[in-house]
Amino acid sequence: MRNLRDIPYINNLSEEEIFNIEVAARVCPFKTNNYVVEKLIDWENYADDPLFLLNFPQKNMLLPHFFDELSDDVRMGNEERIKTTVRKIHYSMNPHPAGQLKYNVPTLNGKKLKGLQHKYHETVLVFPKRGQTCHAYCTFCFRWPQFTGYSELKMGLSDVNVLLEYLKYHPEVTDLLYTGGDPLVMKASTLEEFILPVIEADLPGLQNIRIGSRVLTYWPYRFLTDKDSKELLGLFTRIVRSGKHLAFMAHFNHPKELETEEVQEAIARIRETGAEIRTQSPLLRNINDDPDIWIQMWHKQVELGCIPYYMFVVRDTGAQHYFGVPLVEAYEIYREAFKAVSGLARTVRGPSMSATPGKIMITGTPEIRGEKVIALTMIQARNPDWVLKPFFAEYNRSAYWIDDLTPAFDKEYFFFEKPEMEFEYFIKNLFG
Ligand SMILES: *Cc1c(COP(=O)(O)O)cnc(C)c1O
Ligand code: SF4
Repeated sequence: MRNLRDIPYINNLSEEEIFNIEVAARVCPFKTNNYVVEKLIDWENYADDPLFLLNFPQKNMLLPHFFDELSDDVRMGNEERIKTTVRKIHYSMNPHPAGQLKYNVPTLNGKKLKGLQHKYHETVLVFPKRGQTCHAYCTFCFRWPQFTGYSELKMGLSDVNVLLEYLKYHPEVTDLLYTGGDPLVMKASTLEEFILPVIEADLPGLQNIRIGSRVLTYWPYRFLTDKDSKELLGLFTRIVRSGKHLAFMAHFNHPKELETEEVQEAIARIRETGAEIRTQSPLLRNINDDPDIWIQMWHKQVELGCIPYYMFVVRDTGAQHYFGVPLVEAYEIYREAFKAVSGLARTVRGPSMSATPGKIMITGTPEIRGEKVIALTMIQARNPDWVLKPFFAEYNRSAYWIDDLTPAFDKEYFFFEKPEMEFEYFIKNLFG
């Protein structure tokens, strides 16, 4: 469903509310489906309903001056102006954060490989071309350039042989992470074309196949009643039987997403194949910025046999002014929730920022020799040598991202920003 007015419950909203969503949806791509609308959203209390806010773009997800400009254009019905304004807003929203296009695209024989990203040694991200959409779109999503038709910003792998060739030269890769969009929008037979050849290639270093997906939230029928549900589960079984670890990286933002019979049955079926389900979510203002929500979510996940994996800091892209939670507060929420769950849920790590140098985690706010600071460390890094080195920033309750932080103790740089570090790494990469 892409047309708001086709949704029966939309009559619960005022004409103005509907218009506001229509305006915001010009910027944040909108797509939903009957599972989300009928089983997840509470239409009696839609205004505060997390699933409604996750799926239906809101007026205040745009900065006020942008919203006013765009709503004027929409009222005038001037499609040319609408297009220009939308483009301007999109480019103000940092479409490819963390150097995604600049640093992470790998090359082979001097040619850039579209549809792959290789940032951390062990893991290659695979973006199959036909998986560059989702069953429904999240309003906070940082991958929206892939859905909004900017050709220069689109990614996608169409030929699995490119991946195979690349892996031959990269024996350090243990993990492939199939991502998107959502790779599980693809037919099982299409997904198979991207996975089976890799498994059959008998690459000695390859251990883990990961599939990153939000399908359990948005379309659990993928494992229940879709035409090729059995085939998809069969593919999972084949991956596991081949001796690879299959990790289903499930994306859940709220405990409500785990409550339906459908999602619980889908989780059970995935687990029967021998795949493990690991869960991750960003911490989002207005959606899950409360430790109790995370406690409930992690409890339920462990109960259903899923393994909590990451809590992310929402990226410096898209509607960050609406969804962003400052780093210190994110740490406090994480700690409050972590304190209250058993060790089985403490597999979760965070709050973590996927920033240009790596995944940066906030580990505390200690006072060191009279100076209150933010303690940080990297749990993943472009340069593996940077992992788990503690470093410190000046205490700042209004910082939302690493760029907002200043090194503590009068240092000029964070250790990974030193020009000679960059140079050393550049040289190392140049000569293999
Ligand atoms: C998070 C991430 C990975 C996976 O990291 P793990 O810590 O192994 O889960 C791989 N590549 C990129 C670009 C990532 O952001
Ligand atoms: S499912 Fe993932 S990629 Fe798709 S819109 Fe949501 S966050 Fe973005």
